Amino acid sequence: MTVPFLDLKSINQAHRSDLVSAFERVLDSGWYIMGNDLAAFEREYAEYCGAHECVGVANGLDALTLALRALGVGPGDEVLVPSNTYIATWLAVSHVGATPVPVEPDDRTANIDPKRLSAALTPRTKVIMPVHLYGQPVELDPILAFARQHGLKVVEDGAQAHGARYKGERLGAHGDIVAWSFYPGKNLGALGDGGAITTNDSALAASIRELRNYGSKVKYHNEVIGYNSRLDELQAALLRVKLPQLDSENGHRALIAERYLQGLAGIDLQLPHIHLDCQSAWHLFVVRHPRREAFAKALSAAGIGTVIHYPIPPHLQPAYEPLGIAAGSLPVSERLHREVISLPISPVMSLDQVDEVIAKVRAAVESLAHG
Ligand SMILES: *Cc1c(COP(=O)(O)O)cnc(C)c1O
Repeated sequence: MTVPFLDLKSINQAHRSDLVSAFERVLDSGWYIMGNDLAAFEREYAEYCGAHECVGVANGLDALTLALRALGVGPGDEVLVPSNTYIATWLAVSHVGATPVPVEPDDRTANIDPKRLSAALTPRTKVIMPVHLYGQPVELDPILAFARQHGLKVVEDGAQAHGARYKGERLGAHGDIVAWSFYPGKNLGALGDGGAITTNDSALAASIRELRNYGSKVKYHNEVIGYNSRLDELQAALLRVKLPQLDSENGHRALIAERYLQGLAGIDLQLPHIHLDCQSAWHLFVVRHPRREAFAKALSAAGIGTVIHYPIPPHLQPAYEPLGIAAGSLPVSERLHREVISLPISPVMSLDQVDEVIAKVRAAVESLAHG
């Protein structure tokens, strides 16, 4: 039996007839940008997240970028970002002309460590951008308290955490703005690019609505230098089909995670640690092995697909060479990037496949211990 890392085709086939109906409805409507399906999806996703407002945009990176623009962040400002994240979080900061300032993660959760925020604070700090990495919420209370104390705004990167809960409440309106991605591989994935922001602040939502549409509230009247960053009507219609199934799909992910945690306990492999206050969306199931490359090779030879999230931390990417953050200066994140590897997890994975992964992982860990 081979187990692919992610079978997007099967994930979407599960919704096939409803997706086709939604496509036909949009096709036949003759209205393809900012129509009824976008408005309806924005209402439905806001309600799902427990937020007052949702604004659809073109992708997750734009959601983060427009959130920072709406908060007035620009050149000369600093934004606290996790040292361990997908590079898009940093790129959004750079796109508004501000400077990303990395904060190291808690080694157990891999999420930004609230205790390390104060060392990174300067008079130029304007925003904290925590990322709910791998689907697990960050410890929001200490981060929100720190932000209040220092007059900072909080933009959450929720791209991997649709439906995740912090202290029992869904993510979506804890910080000032939450940015979402509907990239096909995310827990709530479109059939192309898509993104959104949620917020309880209607002024911020109005500002992002204006920014996504050329900086215009009234057609051909442009108040600010805006973008073309709208969530397509078609993608909105397809997302409306998948949203009602998100909780049950996340439930299946949680079942798989539970089975992995039990089946892989007690072997020489570091398993994910979930904070007591958090209910993960289990976007990824990330384990750590000191000989990651050999471990990945053994699994690949055994027919198990894996992916590294992520092989190179943002500060060591050529794109961020100009920041001059030396190798070795963010050791927690750098070690994570050397050791992490993601096992297959998805709403369509069978329990037989999960057991196959468990058996093959156990065998690989065993052989590396003796090899
Ligand atoms: C996917 C992702 C993004 C970017 O989303 P896109 O829709 O691909 O632009 C941003 N942050 C994180 C943490 C992500 O995983």
